[in-house]
Amino acid sequence: MKRRDFIQKAGVGSLAAGAGLAVPQMARAGVQFKWKMVTAWPKNFPGLGTNANLLAKMITQMSGGRIKVKVYGAKELVPAFEVFDAVSRGIAEMGHAGAYYWKGKSASTQFFSAVPFGLTAQEMNAWLYYGGGLELWRELYKPFGLIPAPTGNTGVQMAGWFNRKINSFDDLKGLKMRIPGLGGEVLRRAGGTTVNMPGGELFTSLQSGALDATEWVGPYNDLAFGFHKVAKYYYYPGWHEPGSTMEALINEQAFNELPDDLQQIVLMACKAANLDMISEYTARNNQALNTLVNKHKVQVLPLPDDVLRQLKVLSDEVVNELANTDAMAKKIFDSVTGFRTQVAQWGTISEQAFLRARSL
Ligand code: CA
Repeated sequence: MKRRDFIQKAGVGSLAAGAGLAVPQMARAGVQFKWKMVTAWPKNFPGLGTNANLLAKMITQMSGGRIKVKVYGAKELVPAFEVFDAVSRGIAEMGHAGAYYWKGKSASTQFFSAVPFGLTAQEMNAWLYYGGGLELWRELYKPFGLIPAPTGNTGVQMAGWFNRKINSFDDLKGLKMRIPGLGGEVLRRAGGTTVNMPGGELFTSLQSGALDATEWVGPYNDLAFGFHKVAKYYYYPGWHEPGSTMEALINEQAFNELPDDLQQIVLMACKAANLDMISEYTARNNQALNTLVNKHKVQVLPLPDDVLRQLKVLSDEVVNELANTDAMAKKIFDSVTGFRTQVAQWGTISEQAFLRARSL
């Protein structure tokens, strides 16, 4: 409400959402906007929290201070899982999170964060920016008064930390693992028990044996967590999260109150933050992996092909069911699976063929 008061005092008059264009750009040029960004991460959390910090800093600097964005870590203003509602209601103008946290709002949000055996980071960006994905995401969030934008990607994650060897599909039976989202549903169907708990409890649960395994992100984040102290085997690849996308949530009314140039600055800063995160993870993951292997003597192991093959069958089943949730889910599913088919054709003779050639 403070923002509106300020604008009215500045003599601009009330701005109904959607009527923003009626206000002359000149009249709004001198207005300063103070935005709050609530996040689903602890303040300054490596990679995720720092991406939110970067995004806020870029918007503030690129706008010459005309938008000042202040970042709030989880629980500082609202708890992690209330970020969506807080931005939707205008308690904060922006949020930074992962879309799969909002599956209670709409199951389809899961298509915009991580789908087992889905798109890689580069493919996800291609779908979002050039394959109709972002339009669908905006359509999905429109009823909530939110504008989404991709703002980061972890790249392919690791399958996780295990205290049991996985030599066959049967070894997944009875496995107690922290693995959220669609991947968790797949593991349940494979006979595992999935446990959802906050990141802070994972370490002690692995140590006590309450958990046999956990996935988190990749070496860069996992090393910081210290999982190598409580788990023996580090499995790959992260079949369940091949290119997890982070999201910026923007309150639509707050966005519409911005002059055109500031709107572009907000969107372009999201795009720059999106590029920054995948670059940072790609650079830091292997440094961290070297530390895990050479210093901490972690055993890095591949999941057997047969295990992956069967997980893929179950994943297709789970994602197909998600597609049948409602008409919107079907529309997004058709878009993303159609895109995956065609981009995979190109990938086979480009990335995949080249990476094979490079390793000959
Ligand atoms: Ca993960």
